[in-house]
Amino acid sequence: MSACVSLVAARKDYTGFVDTRIGTDSDFAFSHGNTYPATGMPFAQHLWSPQTGDRYDGWKYSWPHKEIRGFGQTHQCSPWMQDYAVFLLMPETGRLVTGLKDRGASFSHDNETARPHYYKVTLDNGITTEIAPTPRCGFFRFSFPKKDPAYLLLDGYNDLSEIHIDPSKKEITGWVNNVRFISDKESFRCHFIIRFDQPFLEYGTWENEDGGIFPDKTDGEGKGFGAYVRFKPGAKVNARISSSYISPEQAEITLERELGKFRRLEDVAAEGQRVWNDLFGRVDVGGGTEEEVRTFYSCLFRANLFSREFYEIDKEGNPYYYSPYDGKVHEGYMFTDNGFWDTFRSQFPLSDIVHPTMQGRYMNALLDAQEQCGWLPQWSAPGETGGMVGNHAISLLADAWAKGIRSFDPQRALKAYAHEAMNKGPWAGANGRGGWEDYWTLGYVSHRGGNGATAMTLEYAYDDFCAWKLAESVGNGFYSRIFGNSMFNYRNVFDPQTGFMRGRDKEGNWTEPFDPEEWGGAYVEGDAWHYTWSVFQDIQGLINLFGGDKNFTDKLYAVFTTEPSLKTGTYGGVIHEMAEMVAAGMGQYAHGNQPIQHMPYLYCYAGQPWKTQYWVRQIMSRLYNSGPQGYPGDEDQGGMSSWYVLSALGIYSVTPGTDQYVLGSPVFRDAVITLEDGKKFRIVAEGNSPVNVYIQTATLNGKPLDANYIRYHDIVSGGELRLVMGPEPAYGRGTTKAAAPYSVSEPED
Ligand code: CA
Repeated sequence: MSACVSLVAARKDYTGFVDTRIGTDSDFAFSHGNTYPATGMPFAQHLWSPQTGDRYDGWKYSWPHKEIRGFGQTHQCSPWMQDYAVFLLMPETGRLVTGLKDRGASFSHDNETARPHYYKVTLDNGITTEIAPTPRCGFFRFSFPKKDPAYLLLDGYNDLSEIHIDPSKKEITGWVNNVRFISDKESFRCHFIIRFDQPFLEYGTWENEDGGIFPDKTDGEGKGFGAYVRFKPGAKVNARISSSYISPEQAEITLERELGKFRRLEDVAAEGQRVWNDLFGRVDVGGGTEEEVRTFYSCLFRANLFSREFYEIDKEGNPYYYSPYDGKVHEGYMFTDNGFWDTFRSQFPLSDIVHPTMQGRYMNALLDAQEQCGWLPQWSAPGETGGMVGNHAISLLADAWAKGIRSFDPQRALKAYAHEAMNKGPWAGANGRGGWEDYWTLGYVSHRGGNGATAMTLEYAYDDFCAWKLAESVGNGFYSRIFGNSMFNYRNVFDPQTGFMRGRDKEGNWTEPFDPEEWGGAYVEGDAWHYTWSVFQDIQGLINLFGGDKNFTDKLYAVFTTEPSLKTGTYGGVIHEMAEMVAAGMGQYAHGNQPIQHMPYLYCYAGQPWKTQYWVRQIMSRLYNSGPQGYPGDEDQGGMSSWYVLSALGIYSVTPGTDQYVLGSPVFRDAVITLEDGKKFRIVAEGNSPVNVYIQTATLNGKPLDANYIRYHDIVSGGELRLVMGPEPAYGRGTTKAAAPYSVSEPED
């Protein structure tokens, strides 16, 4: 039977369920994802996208915009970090227009096709642009209207660039150096080759600072230098594009490696579609509505874009890379473009299931990056930005180790982490361990103003747990003793009077006035309602602080039922995460941002798993869809998408660093995960429906399962989790403490 299932799966076109424009109806004030139509391969070094926004604007493509201003290479993780190594191509008809705003061409979303492996748009002026990607290249086709002159503009974007036009080779080569976060901007070059198949009837350079146009010139270098070429009217122009951070020669090698065997755009697209279908087919779901399937695969698409493979493949087939951390070229693998605050919770635990080989390479690359940078990456884009709080690289490392990934030296990881945990990084903000002196002497980071002290304390304590867990696993008694104490520091910021995690001053007083609805202050992008649950490592310890299951579950209930009112606090104004919490209509449950996303799963620790089952289904059906308003907040490098993918499969990783996935309520009646080695893990939910969201009984490989979790080992060994679903809670299932998922602490009597 399983052979039949996989044969059917192999023929399915999953890419047809994915619209890359999911989440693009976003702006500065309100995020439905803050995404753009990324056209590209899994974890690709370069992605491609139409651009409707300004050069300096993080909102490079926004659904309400009416005009496209170019089609570009892109690397943007988040609008808050902006893009890097961008250049744009803009086809024009009639006359040459260089200015970004002036050249905008109107279009309709009805005339777009936006799939992972293929993007197409016919502009209102009749020009059609098509894009088919490979991991590091793009194959473009521009089809111009008959009669009128056909121009193609290359925009060198917003920093230094160099251009060389070679009409005899029908190519434009050069480099761009637009990038904000890099250790050595001087050495940063994105070398590109654009090779056309049609002769240039006219050509020249231009520069976008002053708008100067230089006909017949073949070379230029300066701020925002670009090129233009003219083709015959009605031309269908194929353009093969390759880029390298290492050298122009490597760009040529990559062009041959990745596009050499393809004659037509259709062939590149077909190969891209095959690769994506293979990947999507490894998480095959059935027995849901079409909209649920679309949402699932659109999320699975985005869960497989970041981090980016930053390495290139040399002539002999070996990986090597330009390091964004020291500006030098090194052998081996490198991954970047990710903020771990966003992704340690869900995206990495999902990738541990689907991509353990890549994760193994990645963990080594993290340690190499630490040597090159002096610090473990925290928020890289592509160099270190120092953004957000916490030292979450250790979560990735400990989680990989807990799941049997043995590619890296755990002692090296612990040493790198200890340096991180006992120093402040050189960037503005909390990187390294901002407030580390307080943390190690007081047991918490002292609160003043908007320093986010309590958020830091909670996240540091979780990170210390990860280090303790790793140290315990590998017999490092020294680090085990240090971090085995500090992982309980969350206790030092819990106020039993109010039942919230709060800010404390240096003397140990709770900072006043206190209002759990006030954002900022001791918290980061949230309030006390959101951060009180950030004890990923020890939910039972948190239950003990609350005084038992009843108080704890009452407080969980209060999160969903308290009015979503708020005070802007030290933010001094409404930030988009606040607006998204109000719009979500789930009280103080702010699913639009990371701190509280695991909280619906916490009922599983306190004897009420059916409430987890109820709420996760509510969240999935009410807050996600497959359209341009598909997310209830920033998608964040696959973080929010991975929350959905895991939850829709019926599992979630509350405590990365352990091997457990907590049970929720799957969306689908049937899901089959095919592991890298071909083994299959099947999740069946008999009788599942929007009404039958409650688990009545569960069996794992035929044996009754009362626990509210399964283990990584259960999944990767292959097997079957079988749930029977019903319309009413099963009050007797999964209610004992033995059924609760992992916590450091034991229940108190
Ligand atoms: Ca966020």
